[in-house]
Amino acid sequence: MPKTKTMKVRLGDCCMVCKKRKAEGLQVLNTFMCESCEEELVQLNEQDDKYETYVKQMRNLSTNFIG
Ligand SMILES: [Zn+2]
Repeated sequence: MPKTKTMKVRLGDCCMVCKKRKAEGLQVLNTFMCESCEEELVQLNEQDDKYETYVKQMRNLSTNFIG
């Protein structure tokens, strides 16, 4: 088992957050998040409205992955 569920990918995919196709980003579970969205995510704080959106997205992902 890998220690982390994220890994760098270089194939490119459609970002789950901005829905744009990007060449590089993170593979989170079965979903792709581009580098710019990932960067934005780590810079958000919990008071930010966007943070809620991201967290919900991630929660949906987890649910899909488990269930
Ligand atoms: Zn994105």
